[in-house]
Amino acid sequence: MKTTVWSFMLILTAGCGTQPQNPLLVEWDTPFGTPPFEEIQNGHFMPAFREAMAVHKGEVGKIIQNPEEPTFKNTVEAYEKSGRLLDRVDRVFGCLNDAETNPELQAVSEEVEPLLTKHYDDILLDPGLFNRVDAIYSRRESIGLNEEESTLLENIYKDFVRSGAGLDEKDKAALRTVNEELSALYVKFRKNHLDQTNAAALTIENESDLAGLPGNLVAAAADNARSRGMEGKWVITLQKPSFEPFLQYSEKRPLREKVYKSYINRGNNGGESDNKAVVARIAALRAKRSRLLGYKTHADFILERNMAKNPDNVYRFLNDLWEPALARARAEAAEMQAIIDREGGGFRLAGWDWWYYAEKLKKEKYALDDAMLRPYFEMDKVRRGAFGVAEKLYGIQFIPRSDIQVYHPDVEVFEVQEADGSHLGIFYTDYFPRAGKRAGAWSGSLRSQSNMDGNYIAPLVFNVGNFSKPAGTEPALLNTDEVETLFHELGHALDSLFSDTVYAGSRRTPRDFVELPSQIMENWAMDPEVLPTYAVHYETKEPIPQELIDKIQKASLFNQGFRTVEYLAASFLDMDWHSLTEENEVDTGDFEAESLNAIGLMEEIASRYQSTNFGHIFDSQGYSAGYYSYIWAEVLDADAFQAFKEAGLFNRELAQSFRENVLSHGSTDMMAQYVRFRGAEPKVDALLARRGLK
Ligand SMILES: [Zn+2]
Repeated sequence: MKTTVWSFMLILTAGCGTQPQNPLLVEWDTPFGTPPFEEIQNGHFMPAFREAMAVHKGEVGKIIQNPEEPTFKNTVEAYEKSGRLLDRVDRVFGCLNDAETNPELQAVSEEVEPLLTKHYDDILLDPGLFNRVDAIYSRRESIGLNEEESTLLENIYKDFVRSGAGLDEKDKAALRTVNEELSALYVKFRKNHLDQTNAAALTIENESDLAGLPGNLVAAAADNARSRGMEGKWVITLQKPSFEPFLQYSEKRPLREKVYKSYINRGNNGGESDNKAVVARIAALRAKRSRLLGYKTHADFILERNMAKNPDNVYRFLNDLWEPALARARAEAAEMQAIIDREGGGFRLAGWDWWYYAEKLKKEKYALDDAMLRPYFEMDKVRRGAFGVAEKLYGIQFIPRSDIQVYHPDVEVFEVQEADGSHLGIFYTDYFPRAGKRAGAWSGSLRSQSNMDGNYIAPLVFNVGNFSKPAGTEPALLNTDEVETLFHELGHALDSLFSDTVYAGSRRTPRDFVELPSQIMENWAMDPEVLPTYAVHYETKEPIPQELIDKIQKASLFNQGFRTVEYLAASFLDMDWHSLTEENEVDTGDFEAESLNAIGLMEEIASRYQSTNFGHIFDSQGYSAGYYSYIWAEVLDADAFQAFKEAGLFNRELAQSFRENVLSHGSTDMMAQYVRFRGAEPKVDALLARRGLK
C-alpha cells in the first residue's frame, strides 16, 4: 500500500491576518485534496499567479545559490520540486479557462501569458542554473542514477539546451531574434489563414445553380450572402461546413470546380493575405535556428524527442504506407469513374468530382446513416460501456462521488479504485456544450501523479466534451463519432490515472505517442463483441442488431484510400519543408510542386493542405515535422490492439503488460517501452488491414 499525502507541502499565508485567504494559495482541506471550486473566484487568480511565480523564483534562486557542489538531489530533484504552487494555480486556471470561461478569466489569460513566458525564459536561460545541471549531466554515467532518475535528468537537461541555455551570448542574442521573428510570422500566417477561410468561394445568383444542395446548406448560404449585404443571393465560403457539403452535393460540375480551386488555393492568390513569402521565411528561420542549436535540420530538432527519433525513420514509415494507400485510392477512383460512365457523363474524374461521386458510392454500397444508430447510443450507457471496458481490462472500478466540489452542475465525479479497493485517482466528466466552453473534446489533469520522498500524490484527471445534449423527452443520444470520442478521451484519462512514477517530470509523452492510449480505446468501442453490451435502444431496450453492426464494420472502409493519400501527401510536404539545411528562402510554389511530384501524387487528389494554408505546421511550432504523428499513433494502436485480438479482447495479463510497459512510466525511448509490451516494433499491417488498404 502506498502512503497517501494529500496536503500541499507549501502553505502560505496570503496578506495580513484580517484579509480572507486566497483559496488558491492555502492547503486544500477537501476530500482527496481536490480543488475547492466553490470558493475559488475569478479575482483570486491574478494575485495567486503573482505570488506563485515569486515563490518559484525563490525556490530556483536557492538552488543557484547553494554553496555545495551540484548533485542530483540538490539540483535536479530540487528543480523538479520547485514551482509546484505555480503548477497548481496554472492547472486550475487552465481547466476553468477552457471549460467554463468568462471575460474576467480571459483577461487574466491575456495578462498572465506574457508574464509566464518571461518567467520560464528567465529560468531556462539562467547561466548559473544551467551550469549546475550541465555539471551533473556530464557526470551522469558515473553517479549511479537509476533509470527514472536518468530520464528526469535527460528531460531537464534537454529543456535547457533546446532553449539555447548552452550558447554564448552572441548566439543567444541571434536565437532570441529568430524566435521573435518567428512568433510574429506565426501571428501573420494565422491572420492570413483566417481571412482566406472567411472569404467567399462562390456567389450564386440563379436558383438553378443550387441543384442538388440540401436545404440546410441553401439556408446557410443565403445567410452568408445576407451578412455580406447580398440579400437574395447565396454565398459558399471556404469554411468546412460550407464548401464540403457543396462539393458533396452540387450537381453543377463547373461550380464544383470553382469552389474546389478556391479551396486549394487558399493563401496563394497574391494580395495582402498571401502566405507564400511567410511560409518560405518560416522554413528558412527554422533551418537557421536548428543550425544555431547544433541540429542538421528543424526535423532533426523536433524528432529527437519523438518516438520516431529522426527524419529517416519518418520517411521510411510514410513510404511503407504510401504505395498501398495510392493503390486503394486508384481503385476508388475507378469505382467512381464507373458511375460517371454509367450515367453517360463523358468526362474523366477530376479533383472537384471526388466528394460528389464518393457520396453517391456511399449511398449505393452502405446504406447507413447516423440517425439509424443514435437511439442505441444513450450517453449514460455509452459512458458505462467505456468504464466497463476499463474495468474488465484492468480490474479497476469507478465509484460515483457526490462530496467533491465541481465548477459546474454538469460535472460528475468518480473515485477510481484498484481491484483491492485502494485509491488510484479522481476522475471528473464534463460532457455537454455550453457558452464558456471551447469547442472539441479533451482530457487533462488538475494534478499529476508523483511519489517523491515517499509522499504519494494521486492524480486528478478530467474529460471534457461537447456531446449531444438531451432534447425534449429524449435522453442524450450520441452519434458514432461522439461514441468514439468518449472512449478516446477516457483512454487519455486512464493513461494519466495509471501513471506510477517518482517524478512527474520523468514522464513526458512524445507527440507521436500521445494518441496511442486514447486511440486504442476506440477499437473496443466499435468492436462487434463489445457493441451489444452497451449499445441498447433507449426505448425498446433491445441491444443493437447484428445487421447494423455489420453495416458499421463495412462502412469503416469507405473512402479510406482517398483519406490516407491526402493525409500522407501533407505529411511528406511537412517533412520536406523541415528538411531544409540552408537558411535561404525557397520559392514556395516550386518547392511544393517538387515535393508532391517526388511521391507521385495522383492528380485527382490534392494534399490535404497546401503550404500556404497548412496551419498545423506554419501557424505555430505546433505539428511542424510532426504531422505524421496522427497516423504513426494509429499504426501503434492498430498493432497493439492486434495483440488483444490474438490473446482475447479482455486478456488481463496482456492488459496488465500494456498498463505497466506503455502507460505507467516515462522513458527517453518509448519504442523500447512499446517493444517490452509487444515483443517487437509495430508493423503497419494491422493499420493497412483496418483501413482496407491490403
Ligand atoms: Zn486524443
